[in-house]
Amino acid sequence: MTIRTRVAPSPTGDPHVGTAYVALFNYCLAKKNGGQFILRIEDTDRARSTKASEQMIIDALRWLGIEWDEGPDCGGPAGPYRQSERGDIYAKYAAELLENGHAFRCFLTNEQLAQLRKEHQAAGATGALDSPYASMSREESDSLAESGTPFVIRMRVPREGVCTVNDELRGEIEIAWDQVDMQVLLKSDGMPTYHLANVVDDHLMGITHVMRGEEWISSAPKHLLLYQYFGWEPPVLCHLPLLRNADRSKLSKRKNPTSIMYYQRMGYLPEALLNYLGRMAWSMPDESEMFSLDTMLEHFDLKRISLGGPIFDTTKLDWLNGTWIREELDDDAFADSVAEWALNRENLKRLIPLVRPRVNKWSELAPMLGFFLDGLMPLTPEKLQFKGLEDGDVRKIYAYSLWTLDALPSWDSDSIQAALRGLATTMDLKLRVFLAPFFMAIAGKSSSTPLFNTMALLGKDMCRARLRHALDTLKPMSGKEQGRWRKEYDALMASCD
Ligand code: GLU
Repeated sequence: MTIRTRVAPSPTGDPHVGTAYVALFNYCLAKKNGGQFILRIEDTDRARSTKASEQMIIDALRWLGIEWDEGPDCGGPAGPYRQSERGDIYAKYAAELLENGHAFRCFLTNEQLAQLRKEHQAAGATGALDSPYASMSREESDSLAESGTPFVIRMRVPREGVCTVNDELRGEIEIAWDQVDMQVLLKSDGMPTYHLANVVDDHLMGITHVMRGEEWISSAPKHLLLYQYFGWEPPVLCHLPLLRNADRSKLSKRKNPTSIMYYQRMGYLPEALLNYLGRMAWSMPDESEMFSLDTMLEHFDLKRISLGGPIFDTTKLDWLNGTWIREELDDDAFADSVAEWALNRENLKRLIPLVRPRVNKWSELAPMLGFFLDGLMPLTPEKLQFKGLEDGDVRKIYAYSLWTLDALPSWDSDSIQAALRGLATTMDLKLRVFLAPFFMAIAGKSSSTPLFNTMALLGKDMCRARLRHALDTLKPMSGKEQGRWRKEYDALMASCD
């Protein structure tokens, strides 16, 4: 049997280090066994998926040196590899399940569903919530659908017994069927949910081993049941341990930068980042800490995966990256790597419009542009004092702008400008007063190259990290503040819609 694995990211934001981690393990499993590794884009969430995010995922994985045999960019025999282009396939399989009674139409409106949930909770019920339409006769269901009543298609789930999930790494996991909800498979707009699309695609693409994050364990019973309904052989399941923040919570961008782009811009070597991700759940037989992708591949063995909650610790990553730089790069490779990172012609050309109007001689360039090559700014609370603003106001400006910028669908100077100007007006602050904290957070000085262009060039992740660093330098947002400010922010934004 040829081993076929895949990574199936949803293109709904920045490329996450977790995607690279899962991709790395799937890649190793396939390649170690002479199989194929596939990139599939799971973009069924039309509202949140973007082409820009898909492109960033492709660029980030390439930068890391992970290559796929089949994917949306290079095609392959089991394509298309973008779920948004496979709508007819899912509709056909949903219809098949409906036809043979493994699925049913559910005509609950969102309001009715919310009401049912409330009653379910109030009654102290512990099991999954069932739809009253599960027992509707086929004739009644057909005629309601024909009359134009909107519906979703849900899968039938047994209400008795347990589902045994066989996890390659964890052994048998038992989940009671009454805890598994009658999952929506096809939404009212005809789009599939993750569960249907994922199972259908894994089968049609011949995936033999599914390695994914442990957060998907609870979905496994639904998937296994779908395989059974379709009469298909399920793939081997391996749920990898989740990457965690230092406090052991799930790795989140609130506590750690999670975008691969951030690590690229910070100047980590792709080899070192990949090495670090490999070490998150796996170790070399001789326990050596430094290894290349080829070495990992050579020694790769599923049995060496450990299930402890791996902590993604940037201090440790710094150490590993430094070791790579010092021990693996000779002077030529060092020079090439730095040039590729930032000091290349293309990058310099991007910066020229920012400095051309100001520069008199080349020796002025480094002070003008140094902060582009820097990481976080060396800030102190004293440097973050601004005329007309209390510390509390400044912290709120940073917190609100982080939320506003996070929600921006595209990262360019015009969008950043429109968003920040809008926020200043909403917060009832003069633009000049509002923007002063940005120069300090982003460039570490009170004036710099034009702010919005500068932010566009620095990239979203670096700007986010610097704004958060400025906020933390004054005082990190407490959990309570986070909740209260977010509410105030949402109300403020809603009032100006
Ligand atoms: N689209 C899912 C994700 O982004 C894929 C999960 C899976 O591998 O099944 O995590």
